[in-house]
Amino acid sequence: MLSYQHAYHAGNFADVHKHLTLYAVTDYLLRKKTAITYIDTHAGRGLYPLATKETQRLQEYREGIWPLWQTREQLSDPLLNGWLNAVTAAQPEAQELTLYPGSPWWLSQPLREHDRLRLFELHPGEHQHLNAQTLPPQAQRIYGDGLAGLAAMLPVATPRLCVLIDPSFERKAEYQEVADTAAYTLEKARHGIVLIWYPLLPAGHHHTLLDTLKASGVRKIWRSELLLRAPGEQTHGMYGSGMLVINPPWGLGERLAAAMAEITPCLGEKSRHVAQWWVEE
Ligand code: SAM
Repeated sequence: MLSYQHAYHAGNFADVHKHLTLYAVTDYLLRKKTAITYIDTHAGRGLYPLATKETQRLQEYREGIWPLWQTREQLSDPLLNGWLNAVTAAQPEAQELTLYPGSPWWLSQPLREHDRLRLFELHPGEHQHLNAQTLPPQAQRIYGDGLAGLAAMLPVATPRLCVLIDPSFERKAEYQEVADTAAYTLEKARHGIVLIWYPLLPAGHHHTLLDTLKASGVRKIWRSELLLRAPGEQTHGMYGSGMLVINPPWGLGERLAAAMAEITPCLGEKSRHVAQWWVEE
């Protein structure tokens, strides 16, 4: 039984981290003409109006997109500016932040006629919300399990593949399942780019994901973590957001580090970004 609903967390610092990384990757992929299949294994609703009662309950966007939006005129990093311009383009009124765009929106933006997008969502209510979004015809919404769906689609028919795996991690076993699916994906699509989001929690469950991937023999895994608070400061709850990018595009680390240098001061004095290879060549 799935209970997680991303609307309670929309636009938080982890979304900023995840979607900025995704934006940097898709921006790079557009430099070549060859077709791309994008797969979003855990799509969510697609768009999150900030005024809904779910999002208003925790107002996590106030420690995420909100401070960046407020200071956007003073920010100078080109990647961050491009990303914030995209957030602006998603708003019905350019001057007001009323919507936060989720991964289906971010992955719809770069779609060209010959690209494809597959969006998996298993929660019936969330899938219904996703179905209500206007998306380009290259985007197909699938009500089903994203990890099994991804594995069944491999190898894809296009020369390039870009996968986002962004689970809710309601079950501890998901850390292992994600690592196994990512390793299988790379077996079937050696040059595919796979992005994996994970939470940094005091219990440290993400080590299962990291260690399993390392042991699987997958190479070129770049790891980025955005911390909102110091790890030891709280006994429960998410203190940071993690992203793995397998087969990262050239220059991704430098571009994101520069953007993060402008982001972290907006997120509070304890916020910091750490990035390095988890597994190199
Ligand atoms: N990727 C979205 C974004 O960035 O806007 C947020 C996704 S949210 C963290 C995780 C989503 O995965 C939830 O909507 C949940 O219902 C869905 N989900 C959970 N288990 C799933 C599964 N096995 N297959 C597909 N979707 C699943």
